[in-house]
Amino acid sequence: MPSHGEKKSPGKLYIVGIGPGSQGQITGDATKAIRDSEVIIGNAAYLDQIAGLTSGKRVIRSSMGHEVERAREAVGLASRSRVAMVSGGDPGVYGMAGIVLEVVDNMGSSIPVEVIPGVTAATAAAALVGSPLSGDFAVVSLSDLLTPWEVIEHRLRAVVRAGMPLVLYNPRSRTRSANFGRAMKIVLDILPDSTPMALVRHAYREGEQVITLTAGEWETVEEQVDMHTVVIIGSEETRFWRNGNETRGIITPRGYHRKYVY
Ligand code: SAH
Repeated sequence: MPSHGEKKSPGKLYIVGIGPGSQGQITGDATKAIRDSEVIIGNAAYLDQIAGLTSGKRVIRSSMGHEVERAREAVGLASRSRVAMVSGGDPGVYGMAGIVLEVVDNMGSSIPVEVIPGVTAATAAAALVGSPLSGDFAVVSLSDLLTPWEVIEHRLRAVVRAGMPLVLYNPRSRTRSANFGRAMKIVLDILPDSTPMALVRHAYREGEQVITLTAGEWETVEEQVDMHTVVIIGSEETRFWRNGNETRGIITPRGYHRKYVY
């Protein structure tokens, strides 16, 4: 508690999830935090997504791959001003929240920090596909920059064996183009070729693309999988979903059919 007469720090740091892309997917609280901030910091693609909210503010563009510097800079600025560090999707899912909170702790900073959640790529993509993640599910990132590849393989096997649908983030980059294929081989060691799966590229952004297929057909779409894509792979219970005569997407029944007649 500040003692009487002591000036309260003017600074504040928001770590704001801005959703997958479109204006409509930004939450009211995220909008409020950005409006309340004097300084907005984030990488260029995210800043473009919120350009409508940042006029008149100091905007600091940072590049990918410099997350630690960006976090330190944000914490430094937040000792004097209200700062919003923006992060795509949800900031706590492969986003900036973790590293910023670590830096706050390591620097011994006492600035007020608030994490604002956002719609993450997994649930945004799932909505476009139907309801493939209706019960338990897991997310695994195929980026081995911060996690060793053996650990990623171990987690993939564990999740698929546990019978959960799986969402792959960071599925295939130019420099790590083989990771997606390696992951699919692990999946197909355990699950049948007929398992429904989907690629969702640029969910809720310009150029949005949704492809549903079976896991056995993965090679036909490998070239389309990139770092703007999430991949959803069903479990044994997952099936394609019809809407009239059309196959519209994928669902994983949660189990109501075992309890109710409908
Ligand atoms: N914090 C983000 C994830 C960052 S990791 C979130 O919560 O969504 C970056 C990965 O997220 C990308 O490689 C891609 O796999 C996925 N991703 C993020 N936004 C996406 C979108 N709009 N469409 C498809 N995939 C997306």
